[in-house]
Amino acid sequence: MKITIIRSICVLLTVGMVAFSCKKAAPKFTTLQGNAQGTTFRFIFQDSSERDFSEEIDSLFRSIDKSMSLWDSTSIITQVNAGNTNLELDEPFVRVFNASERISKITEGAFDITVAPLVKAWGFSFKKDLPPPTDLQIDSLKSLIDYRKLSIHNGKLIRKKDNVSVDFNAIAQGYSVDAVAEFLEVKGVTNYMVEIGGEVRASGVNSRNEAWNIGIDKPIESGKRELQTVVSLKNQSLATSGSYRKFTERGGKKYSHTIDPKTGYPVTHNLLSASVLMNNCTDADGYATACMVLGVEKSLELAKKVGFEVYLIFENEKGEFEVKKSAGFEVL
Ligand code: ADP
Ligand code: MG
Repeated sequence: MKITIIRSICVLLTVGMVAFSCKKAAPKFTTLQGNAQGTTFRFIFQDSSERDFSEEIDSLFRSIDKSMSLWDSTSIITQVNAGNTNLELDEPFVRVFNASERISKITEGAFDITVAPLVKAWGFSFKKDLPPPTDLQIDSLKSLIDYRKLSIHNGKLIRKKDNVSVDFNAIAQGYSVDAVAEFLEVKGVTNYMVEIGGEVRASGVNSRNEAWNIGIDKPIESGKRELQTVVSLKNQSLATSGSYRKFTERGGKKYSHTIDPKTGYPVTHNLLSASVLMNNCTDADGYATACMVLGVEKSLELAKKVGFEVYLIFENEKGEFEVKKSAGFEVL
């Protein structure tokens, strides 16, 4: 992992009426940015001793990869998926599994970590000119999709059906954001913004002593990014799921990378992006994916039931972008 460190110019706190009477300079904010987990990250924080923590955060990323990266042949998740159920699971795995199970139950399976065989069949690793899978293939793969076939007992994964596999891709990024935020908090940092691949958690204030304002992108495909709106995060997380940038093309048609586990097909409704606002980023990330499966109205119901705020951008009958959001979702 390559990490770049940037120190921002310190903010001087002036006190009293005398123009030149200044307090000691406040600690500088540090920016760490780079690539990890197949995406980009940016952490901005203020540590009282101006430590940069890059080595510790690097090893934190490594330990998360060792637990749940499908791209690491030695990771716990890869070994479990290869059939080794005698393996001792680690704390990150158990935490993400438990959060996933909770989200699956409350969304009645709209969110499901056993979805990988369908994700593969719909082909993020396939060539574009291949036809989509047949109904028959989808039907047979659907027998491997059911989060209720997995549980954890005495720190080990119990599989009630052979070949059911685990895919944390829809929630691992949110968990990583929480892990970095919790690491900073343990170090005594109270002013921070942690962002990995667009999932964000922020606490306290930025270097201008203001709340952290985070943009939500317009759901457009082009490389250019345009802001739809801005949210002020007050010790909260914001996770966005969208079908506008990550999709696959099969037989000349575009398919979302979010699969409806009930039908076995990529979701096709008019919801383009779902942004979930709540205290922790693990759940926010998982619920954002669930919203993409559920569509506009059911997502609003889910937000009420669970107690999170949601901002939904969808395409209306006229082909225009329209927004629906929960009552407590405040934008600037
Ligand atoms: P987004 O950036 O849109 O939130 P994520 O990267 O969080 O997307 O999640 C997409 C990945 O989630 C897919 O590549 C797939 O591995 C997994 N996934 C797809 N559909 C589901 C689902 N219904 N439940 C859980 N995971 C899913
Ligand atoms: Mg997600």
